Amino acid sequence: MKVWRTVQEAHKEHKPSGFVPTMGALHEGHLELVRRAKAESGYCVVSIFVNPTQFGPNEDFAKYPRDEKRDFELAASAGADAIFAPSVEEMYTHSQAEITIKGVTSRWEGEIRPGHFTGVATVVAKLFNIVRPLDAYFGLKDFQQCAVVASLVQSLRFDVNLKFLETVREADGLAMSSRNRYLSSEHRQIAPKIYAELNELKLQFERGSDLESSIQESVNRLNRTGFDVQYLALVDSITLEPVTQYKTGARLIVAAKLGTTRLIDNIGV
Ligand code: AMP
Repeated sequence: MKVWRTVQEAHKEHKPSGFVPTMGALHEGHLELVRRAKAESGYCVVSIFVNPTQFGPNEDFAKYPRDEKRDFELAASAGADAIFAPSVEEMYTHSQAEITIKGVTSRWEGEIRPGHFTGVATVVAKLFNIVRPLDAYFGLKDFQQCAVVASLVQSLRFDVNLKFLETVREADGLAMSSRNRYLSSEHRQIAPKIYAELNELKLQFERGSDLESSIQESVNRLNRTGFDVQYLALVDSITLEPVTQYKTGARLIVAAKLGTTRLIDNIGV
């Protein structure tokens, strides 16, 4: 497996590829993307870059888990052919451009984490220009991020096929995340309830129960269990705007804090 540290190396050794951008601390969710990229595109490039511009001032950039040796081994075992692991300087020295996506960023994560999606869109645009992949793989775990990347590609006419893959979960339903390791053992026990609640709500919608009151009851149940729910909403999958009537193809999205850890999840309905 090749390891590229610089833009120059990535350009020099460029091949048409399936590309998986990550911030490292790899888990099965990431590795599933890597396996799919390798299987479908033949040549798989993984980037590992903890992107400072997508963290807020009170977020966990400094303490975000970093273990390069382990990540390289895992990526290689899942089929990565090359890793792009640049320094912050390599990505941001003399960098005066920022990409802000309007519309799909106006609510939810965009509202709670100001500047987050500008950081995401900017780094993804840079990575696309550096790796120049045929296909790029993202996880639906970060549902709004997928909408942002789709808008980025559409807006700036990037020549890349986007592939969005379903969320990989622990056996008890908890969506895999690099941040799950921050959960105390007590909170780790409670955490899967967030996914159980999404499924319960979906069932209620299918039975025709009132959307607004069902959502409010779910929020109350989660809060009583120990979560601090930031939003729980049924949204249009493309625009991310709330929908007032149940319709198939919509997405149920949630963000909640459990202690100091923030969890996000979503399911299709
Ligand atoms: P991150 O390293 O958290 O920036 O994630 C890198 C990519 O992996 C993003 O496209 C995420 O959506 C995706 N990802 C993270 N967790 C999961 C998961 N549990 N299942 C599927 N994809 C995931």
